[in-house]
Amino acid sequence: MKYIGAHVSASGGVENAPVNAYEIGAKAFALFTKNQRQWFSKPLTKDNITNFKENCEKYEYKSKHILPHDSYLINLGHPVKENLEKSRSAFLDEMQRCEQLGLILLNFHPGSHLKQVSEEECLKTIAESINITLDKTNGVTAVIENTAGQGTNLGYKFEHLRYIIDRVEDKSRVGVCIDTCHTFTSGYDLKTEEGYKKTFEEFKNIVGFQYLRGMHLNDSKKELGTRVDRHHSIGIGFIGEGLFKRLMNDPRFDDIPLILETPDDSLWAEEIKMLYGMVEG
Ligand SMILES: [Zn+2]
Ligand SMILES: [Zn+2]
Repeated sequence: MKYIGAHVSASGGVENAPVNAYEIGAKAFALFTKNQRQWFSKPLTKDNITNFKENCEKYEYKSKHILPHDSYLINLGHPVKENLEKSRSAFLDEMQRCEQLGLILLNFHPGSHLKQVSEEECLKTIAESINITLDKTNGVTAVIENTAGQGTNLGYKFEHLRYIIDRVEDKSRVGVCIDTCHTFTSGYDLKTEEGYKKTFEEFKNIVGFQYLRGMHLNDSKKELGTRVDRHHSIGIGFIGEGLFKRLMNDPRFDDIPLILETPDDSLWAEEIKMLYGMVEG
């Protein structure tokens, strides 16, 4: 069974996210639990928390199908100590919000070296950031997203994800999220049948499907290997609908949140329907 959804709005309060997801026919969803462009947001209120939980129950969303995303400002591999500290405390706050909401996953981009340290050094810092945060929290898994490798962002190779996982002490609370657009523009050919097989064979061998906790389903406005992060609506980008047909019929992607982050939110309901329509048999 596939759990498809979208990164829906939580404006007016996190409790609105499950309602917005339900309205587009989603069986999963992603959200920001705070303003993603600000360092500080006010804490969640008791009402936010109660209403969020009630709405998730009402519309039958389980925690394992909800994939909150952290703020874009956070860089867990920041080479400058005070900035790193700021990112780490913001990340802890994000994790604690998930705990409060009864959520079990937190999706984030690994981090950027900003040309000030080596890739390896930065990956070590990221793993240390994860360890520090997991030590202070309970029940929430840190879900590392692969990236397009734009600028100095790390996570554009499966080996980067593996390197981090290897250094995380509590392996039961680390996972990964694979973004199809990022995978493609970072250089993995997801367009062809052969490329699909090869890419996920590599993923299996380097990372392992046991760590896959969610996916972002996006087509791409940029070509293979361009290392640019520009999502496109399903089927009309450089990847094309073949990939999504394969995914929808591949049991390795069952029972995890499959989240649209496509640019035109007026198409989400249609895209969800279209994806379910690709399931054969
Ligand atoms: Zn993504
Ligand atoms: Zn992206």
